[in-house]
Amino acid sequence: MTARILVSACLMGHAVRYDGAAKPLRHPAIDRWRQEGRLVAICPEMSAGMPVPRPPAEIEGGGTGADVLAGKARVLEKTGGDVTAEFRHAAENALALARETNCRFALLIDGSPSCGSGFIYDGRFTGTRVAGEGATAALLRANGIAVYSEREIEALVASVDGEAAKAPT
Ligand code: SF4
Repeated sequence: MTARILVSACLMGHAVRYDGAAKPLRHPAIDRWRQEGRLVAICPEMSAGMPVPRPPAEIEGGGTGADVLAGKARVLEKTGGDVTAEFRHAAENALALARETNCRFALLIDGSPSCGSGFIYDGRFTGTRVAGEGATAALLRANGIAVYSEREIEALVASVDGEAAKAPT
């Protein structure tokens, strides 16, 4: 079975970030996987009805995505809005799409309170990074999907192509 990869839409060049920008990832594997039909793009936050642009949001109190999913931390916009429910909904949408499309891998942009997988920001809107993951990355991992950040693209290539090499022809 072809290994599919759920991808942050902003990494695919879609202008869906809170500031209206994209963060396209240039890598030969991206072009090849696109041609092979392996990539499934989603912006979890947009899928939950959040607009572009939107105020920046962080998980309060240095909490992580797992805390958000467990109801132990809120996601707050810099302008004060509580978007916790939207972020949970976003994570659920991403997981549902991954299941529908048989994605066992995800390539998500780091630092986001949704897509971050290695670091996020500490909730004070001071640009301070803390180790942790966003709500979408946490839910995907909790359901057995291997999440990689854009900095780990080579490791993802090894995993996906290694699996493809083992698959029966
Ligand atoms: Fe990119 Fe994920 Fe933020 Fe959407 S939710 S803009 S895909 S980092």
